[in-house]
Amino acid sequence: MATPNAVKVIRIPPLPSIRDILKLYNLKAMRQLSQNFLLDPGVNNKIVKCCGSIKGAEVCEVGPGPGNITRSVIMKGARKIHVIEKDSRFLPSLQMLSEATYGMVKVIPGDVLHFDMHDLFEESRRKAWDDIPPNIHLIGNLPFNISTPLIIKWMKAISEKKSAWSYGRVRMTLTFQKEVAERIDSPIMTTSRCRLSVMCQNWCDVEMKLLIPGTAFVPKPKVDVGVVHFVPKINPIIPLPFELVEKVVKILFRFRQKQIIRGLAWLFPKNSDTEMAKKLLTDAELKPSMRSFQLSIEEIGRICTVYQGMIEENPRLLTYQRSAELGSDWISREKDSEIEAEEFK
Ligand code: SAM
Repeated sequence: MATPNAVKVIRIPPLPSIRDILKLYNLKAMRQLSQNFLLDPGVNNKIVKCCGSIKGAEVCEVGPGPGNITRSVIMKGARKIHVIEKDSRFLPSLQMLSEATYGMVKVIPGDVLHFDMHDLFEESRRKAWDDIPPNIHLIGNLPFNISTPLIIKWMKAISEKKSAWSYGRVRMTLTFQKEVAERIDSPIMTTSRCRLSVMCQNWCDVEMKLLIPGTAFVPKPKVDVGVVHFVPKINPIIPLPFELVEKVVKILFRFRQKQIIRGLAWLFPKNSDTEMAKKLLTDAELKPSMRSFQLSIEEIGRICTVYQGMIEENPRLLTYQRSAELGSDWISREKDSEIEAEEFK
């Protein structure tokens, strides 16, 4: 006799292989959508395993392509899978998968960067933020070109408990170019510590779970890929608004190799910048000669808290953007774009 809570595991009826689907629909990878497919079911299963148990879960997959990871998610016992795919050429094969699973796969054509998940999942799955995470998972072999903007956007949503995170501490298992995955997971005092490490680790416990060689993908990218698992923290280390933390962290890591006082001066008007940056660091009890990668998130939190106090005293500081003065200072505009690229390193 079946136990009342037993989860029904769907067996997918025989379907064409993913390789055959790509041939059948003449699907060639599009570089502008960062398409690199994982055709080995063993590798897809390993990615899904990084989520932990997904039995009975509701899953949202970003960029399913022909549906290979989707098939592994079904086989691991998920109950419902929403798949968000931008490339309409994949819709027929995803629709086929949806029919074969009696509607378990819900196909959402569109761009994940503009998709709000605030009412996507079943109402009964909602959990309080400080409860255990709900049985909802986000998964995706992300296109390289959107992975960093997407994770930053999702960190903001986590900080505000919006979108998928209105359901509680929804976990994520996502792929990144190996170097980006290492930066996300990077501890203090390492060369790969950067803005991304602090922004992700402030709101989530992160762990790089798996490394997939570029050779596992078709077409083969020039880089290897890391799979990172994210669990939102009940309390962020810096419990301040996302924009404020982002502004400070951005400025700190913009000048990674320089003393932190040099970067922090950019938060203030030029005529009093060094003086105010000195005061900021004195009140935060930090040495001006430190480098940003030597700061713990708690120490960055002290800088943010003192800066927030200075804003309360002088609200104009909030919107003050020294970068508007670029070109007139010791850093040129051209240099700025290099620094933008640099800051994720
Ligand atoms: N899941 C498949 C796999 O592992 O083989 C495909 C992964 S491929 C790296 C990335 C997928 O994301 C492609 O199917 C691509 O069309 C899709 N994609 C790219 N940009 C997207 C966006 N902004 N929103 C949703 N899907 C996107």
